[in-house]
Amino acid sequence: MFDCIVLGAGLAGCVLAERFASDGKRVLLLEKKEHIGGTCYDFYDKSGILVHKYGPHIFNTDSETVWKYVNRFSDFRIYHHRVLGVIEGKKVPVPFNLESLYQLFPSTYAERIETKLLNKYAMNTKVPIMELQNQDDPDLKYLANYIYEYVFLHYTKKQWGMSPEEVGGTATARIPFYISRDDRYFQNRYQGIPVNGYTDMINHIIDNENIHVLLKTDYHKVIEFDQLTHTIKFMGLPYTGKVIVTVPLDELFDFCFGHLPYRTLDFKFETFNTEYFQEICTVNYPNNYDFTRITEFKYMTGQVHPQTTIVKEFPKQYDWKDKSQEPYYPIPQEKNTILYNKYRTLLDEFSNVILSGRLADYKYYTMSETITNALGAFDKYCVDNIK
Ligand code: UDP
Repeated sequence: MFDCIVLGAGLAGCVLAERFASDGKRVLLLEKKEHIGGTCYDFYDKSGILVHKYGPHIFNTDSETVWKYVNRFSDFRIYHHRVLGVIEGKKVPVPFNLESLYQLFPSTYAERIETKLLNKYAMNTKVPIMELQNQDDPDLKYLANYIYEYVFLHYTKKQWGMSPEEVGGTATARIPFYISRDDRYFQNRYQGIPVNGYTDMINHIIDNENIHVLLKTDYHKVIEFDQLTHTIKFMGLPYTGKVIVTVPLDELFDFCFGHLPYRTLDFKFETFNTEYFQEICTVNYPNNYDFTRITEFKYMTGQVHPQTTIVKEFPKQYDWKDKSQEPYYPIPQEKNTILYNKYRTLLDEFSNVILSGRLADYKYYTMSETITNALGAFDKYCVDNIK
C-alpha cells in the first residue's frame, strides 16, 4: 500500500513525491499526460534540438534553499535571459529601462527624463507601470503613457484578452519599468538552465525506489473524494494515507460550481536551416502580429547545432472541452478567487490532503515559487506530524 498518493507529476508533484519518498514513504505518483514535468517538460525535436514543449522556461530565484535543492538533481548552465521588444520598429530592452529610453528618444529628452527619474527614485528601482502613470510631472507622465501604450497595453490584451487594469497588478508587476542599465529580464541572484534540460532534472528528482509513477492515468479512475463522508477512496477502498493534490480543484470536484478560467497558448514551432534565427533568445512583439513573442531555444540551452528551432506563442481563452488544450495561466481576478475559494472550502473538509502548485492553488507561480511552496508544504506536514 502507498503512504502517499500524488495527483499530478508536474514540478510541485515531483518535488513533494521526492520529499515524502526521501522520508521513507511509499509514494504513488499519478499523471494523466504521457510524460512527467508538467509544463516544464522539454524534449529533443525532430532535428535534435532541445525545445520546451509548453513555452520557454528560464529558472530564476533569490532563494538559496530553492537553488541548492534543484542543484542536487542537475548542474545548471549559467544563463541570464535578455528580451528585446519591438517598439515602433526598433528592438529595445524589455523590461523597459534606461537603455530603452535612450534608444527610442532623442538624447536630450532622454537625459532630462533620466534626471527626473533619478530625482524621484534610486538607481535600480523597479517601478510598476501603473505607479509611474500616477506621476504629476508631465515628462514622467508622458513616458509612463508611452510605455503603457507600446509595451503593456497590446501585449496584455493579446496575452490575457483584457486590459492591464482588468488583469490587475499581479501579472504586469512582473515586468516593471526598471530605472537601470541592467538589461537582463530578471535580476534574481540565481539564474540558469538545467544542463541536460528540465525533463532530465525532474527525472532525477523522482529517481527514488520509493516512488512509483503511473503515466497516462486519469486519477478520477483510481481515487475518489466522497463529499458526503469526507473520506477518500483508493481503488474503491477507504484510504487514510496522504493525498497530495496538484491538479485543478474544479476538475477534482467535477466542476460542481463551474469552471475556473485560464488563458492558454497555441505554440508554433519552426525549424530553420540556419544556425541562428534572431539576435537574442526572446523578441517580444507587443504591438504587431497575433503572437506575443518568439523564442529561440539554443540561446538558453547553449546547444550547438547547424539548425535552429523557434517558437511563437499565440494566447487564447482556455476551453476545457478541447482536450488538446492546457490550462496555463490562472486569471488573477477577484471573481475567480471567489470561485476558487468555494472549491477550497470543499477540499478543507478532507483532513489528509496537501495542496500545492500553480493549478491547485490557482496562482500564477514561477518555478521558484512552485518549489518554495512545495518544500514549505512538506515542512508543514513534518511539523504537524511531530505535534
Ligand atoms: N508584459 C507586457 N509586455 C511585455 C512583456 C510582459 O505587457 O513585453 C506583461 C503581460 O501582461 C504579461 C506579464 O507582463 O502577461 C508577465 O510577463 P512574463 O514575461 O512574466 O510572462 P510569462 O513568461 O509568465 O508568460
